[in-house]
Amino acid sequence: QTIPEVTLNNGVKMPQFGLGVFKVDNAADIKNSIKWALADGYRLIDTAMIYQNEQWVGEAIRESGVPREDLFITSKLWNSDRGYEGTKAAFEASLQRLGLDYLDLYLIHWPADGYVESWRAMTDLYHEGKIRAIGVSNFEPHHIDDLLAHSDVVPVVDQIETHPLFQQKELHRYLANHQIVHESWGPLGQGKSNILVDTVLTKIAAKYNKTTAQVVLRWHIDRGVIVIPKSIHEQRLAENANIFDFALTDEEMQAIAGLDQNKRLSHDPDDTE
Ligand code: NAD
Repeated sequence: QTIPEVTLNNGVKMPQFGLGVFKVDNAADIKNSIKWALADGYRLIDTAMIYQNEQWVGEAIRESGVPREDLFITSKLWNSDRGYEGTKAAFEASLQRLGLDYLDLYLIHWPADGYVESWRAMTDLYHEGKIRAIGVSNFEPHHIDDLLAHSDVVPVVDQIETHPLFQQKELHRYLANHQIVHESWGPLGQGKSNILVDTVLTKIAAKYNKTTAQVVLRWHIDRGVIVIPKSIHEQRLAENANIFDFALTDEEMQAIAGLDQNKRLSHDPDDTE
């Protein structure tokens, strides 16, 4: 099966599905999960400085033998590295830990004060060819409006908490209107809710002989959202990738849309310090 790609607003193509490695905090789990994921066809890997695993991600991808140009590696700028010089230094440090000479995507992790200056540094790195695409994460419309008032470079994605209980319908529309792709983090609700046993989902799952996790991931895909579910288990990594041989009907999409409780399970971006 082939993983679809989305074309970002600067023309770069990004896989619509990949692996998140938040909280994978030891070399063995990183190396195994990346090895299994690559064997299942994953090519997008989403890490961040704050996950403290960039070095192992770099080792895992080198050991895999998959050509660099076939991979799509994302990392993120942490809040304490804000500002022009801080951002440039943090980016170089991430590259070095990963053992790479460019990143495919670099994101401002949270809208911490100073993000306009961080963005200016990122646009310079982008124009120098050190990053193929730059974006943001956890940005609300007012943060993006502010960024666009200060820069001609439009973020390619906004990576935001999104799952059936918190669908981000308004922000989704805002992003579409600005040619910014919606990327979901916590696509399965981070294991913090009972969403995967909801009867709306169990019924749809039974019809397609899929799991509820697969139905939720497929719902994101059919909405045009990029997903990066995390797992360290071989069987679940394969399960999560096995979602490209079915599609949901309009009625099923609507039934899942009805599960929205507009309920964040994690931090409010406006509380970022
Ligand atoms: P997730 O929604 O991907 O949930 C992961 C958890 O779901 C796993 O730990 C496991 O318990 C469960 N799970 C995975 N596959 C399953 C399956 N097939 N069946 C049942 N349960 C399953 O949450 P996440 O890891 O927080 O989010 C995904 C990625 O998004 C992260 O790894 C990270 O890369 C990124 N992320 C970014 C931010 C940000 O602020 N930008 C915040 C959180 C996460």
